[in-house]
Amino acid sequence: MSNENRIVDNLRYCLSNYFQEFKYDEYNENAFEKWTNEDFKEILGQFCERLEESVDFADPLYLAHMVAVPTPYSLLAFYLGSLFNQNQHAYESSPATTNMELETIESICGLFEFPKGAWGHLSSGGTLANLEAAWLTRKKYKNKLKIIFASTAHISWRRICDIINVNYAVIEVNRKFQMNLECLEREIKKSQELGEHLLIVATMGTTGCGAIDPLYEICELKKKFNFSLHVDAAWGGFLKVLDNDRTLSDYAQSNLRIMKEADSITVDPHKQGYIPYGCGAVVYRDPNLRNEIMHDAPYTFILNNNLGQVTLEGSRNGGYASSCWFNFKMLPLTNEGIGRIYKRLIEQTRHLKKILEEYEFKILIEPEMNIICFYPKGEALAEINMKSEKIIHMCVIKNTRLGYPVLSKFTTDDKQFMSTMRCTINDKVLTTVRCVVSKVYWDNSEWNRICERLLEKIVSIT
Ligand SMILES: *Cc1c(COP(=O)(O)O)cnc(C)c1O
Repeated sequence: MSNENRIVDNLRYCLSNYFQEFKYDEYNENAFEKWTNEDFKEILGQFCERLEESVDFADPLYLAHMVAVPTPYSLLAFYLGSLFNQNQHAYESSPATTNMELETIESICGLFEFPKGAWGHLSSGGTLANLEAAWLTRKKYKNKLKIIFASTAHISWRRICDIINVNYAVIEVNRKFQMNLECLEREIKKSQELGEHLLIVATMGTTGCGAIDPLYEICELKKKFNFSLHVDAAWGGFLKVLDNDRTLSDYAQSNLRIMKEADSITVDPHKQGYIPYGCGAVVYRDPNLRNEIMHDAPYTFILNNNLGQVTLEGSRNGGYASSCWFNFKMLPLTNEGIGRIYKRLIEQTRHLKKILEEYEFKILIEPEMNIICFYPKGEALAEINMKSEKIIHMCVIKNTRLGYPVLSKFTTDDKQFMSTMRCTINDKVLTTVRCVVSKVYWDNSEWNRICERLLEKIVSIT
């Protein structure tokens, strides 16, 4: 059977089953003949051809970006949930998935050990989650807000400050790409003298190289200086399930454990939660913060149940909530649940590191999570950069058919780090090759084979 016919057949089967439930079968039979007429088949054929251009994220050698393959549960539930729950804005338009969203948020608040009364919601991504947290904090502190984040924070933070029109300060990082605590303390003192309320943003797994800001110490500073604290854990937040089992470094564990001290947290189910893209989340400790957003609600809603009342965004597809619900029932947000996958990904990352070092590549930082950045050795920075660029140039989608892996790039101009490099510094930036390890292989030898294939290709380039 051709691909298109198989799709039509599956669609017919799915929908007729589905509609029968709702006693629409007669209508349905006729509608189908119209639906699946010759035009439909023709366009479907074209459509399938167009999809051939898609990126195969499932390819073992795809390690470029923070895009994982969604689990079958999450895809199934996304599709089924969105059929009749198109809009989470009001409870009456999506009761089933609104309840699933509330339960999902409860599990996320539970994961971060937030106290009773904590709340939150899904969003279309981490950027929107961050934006809303910053906006609500500004409203609470009546506009006298300054936001402080490290130079390695996600690019969206500068945009967010621009959108909500607040001042910001960028803190430099140490050679491990973690927020520099001395600079932070200096900035806090300076800003507080000016009477500004501060929102400090700590990143739990930076987008560039997976570094973790020193949250434990930042929480110590919070006791002394009393600022608001947002943890941007869009990428790394779910790894909180590993905060006690010694898979991660002591540093990572103690910082994950202290996330409960944050005022708000962003975590992206569409990144390490294996939900289809379009799904972030934000949770808040303070129940009263909800009032800051509710003033703006133009309708009278029933408290709690109308998510639209407490979200910056308007309409949102209920499919994401059902996707999270199903997925996190199958893979609970616990050490033995989804944690099994993360443990394996950390092991895989460490194995990849070992092999990279065997082939004499340099590792940017000891990976705390499942991202690793590396660069070839060289006498001078410009030579290293040229080799990295050569790798990145070859390791792109269009070369997968030649057996090349797909990798990405992380560039830094961090002076501190460069001062530790044992080569002539004759360039302004360091370009590294970035791998995001998000596909799990339970079999060591299989992952080893993939790593070897990867290295073979990279070595052939340099
Ligand atoms: C990905 C990411 C974001 C932005 O999230 P989107 O879902 O892409 O909007 C913010 N912060 C960090 C640390 C991220 O990794």
